[in-house]
Amino acid sequence: MVNLVFLGPPGAGKGTLSEGLCFQEKLVHLSTGDLLRAELKKGSPLGSQVQSIMQSGGLVSDEIVATLVEQRLAEAVKEAVPGFVFDGFPRTIRQADLLGSTLAKLGMKLDAVVLLEVHEEVLILRLTGRRICRKCNKIFHLAYSPPKVDGVCDTCGHDELYQRADDNEESVRERLKVYAAETKPLVAYYEAKGVLLRIDASRDKATNVRNLREALSPFLVKL
Ligand code: AMP
Repeated sequence: MVNLVFLGPPGAGKGTLSEGLCFQEKLVHLSTGDLLRAELKKGSPLGSQVQSIMQSGGLVSDEIVATLVEQRLAEAVKEAVPGFVFDGFPRTIRQADLLGSTLAKLGMKLDAVVLLEVHEEVLILRLTGRRICRKCNKIFHLAYSPPKVDGVCDTCGHDELYQRADDNEESVRERLKVYAAETKPLVAYYEAKGVLLRIDASRDKATNVRNLREALSPFLVKL
């Protein structure tokens, strides 16, 4: 089994790169942002509780996200999966401690933490130009990877590409501030545990994927 965390500021490509890796290696993609957005979409009480925090770019409480992760892990471990990729979790030291203890309870451990490094100006351009298919969640970018037909998803043909409510410039700046204050300390936390891998994720997608697979090759051969 191989368990990985994808760490990095918003816009670093955690979602795109971790989803691609999971698809190729049959790993379970566990994104707390996706789990929370699913609650919003369902209109659940939890969804209403977190909506305004998410929209403004703040962090949802550690207890809420840790519970969502624990539930998802408990469902997936029954299916004998080859491993997990945590995307956007942990985001605080407390969440990292909770992840460590949850994995230990399940007899699992973290193999590597992939830190995606990208300059701040690039992050802002990437996030504010991002568009997502309402139906299949495929991610586009107005400048870097636009759909072949304006406003239409290349993958499923649906004609609604939307902008996430927290991808406007104001929320993006807040998310970057929150990352620096709450999440960046995890770099030193995981470095001290000897599991941190740094990847330059500022290039085009094909180069980023190549760099990622090269850095992860010692773990991928185990799959
Ligand atoms: P993401 O899709 O990872 O960019 O997450 C979108 C938003 O969901 C974040 O800006 C937070 O408001 C919330 N969120 C996602 N993951 C976490 C987490 N691990 N801890 C706290 N809030 C989170």
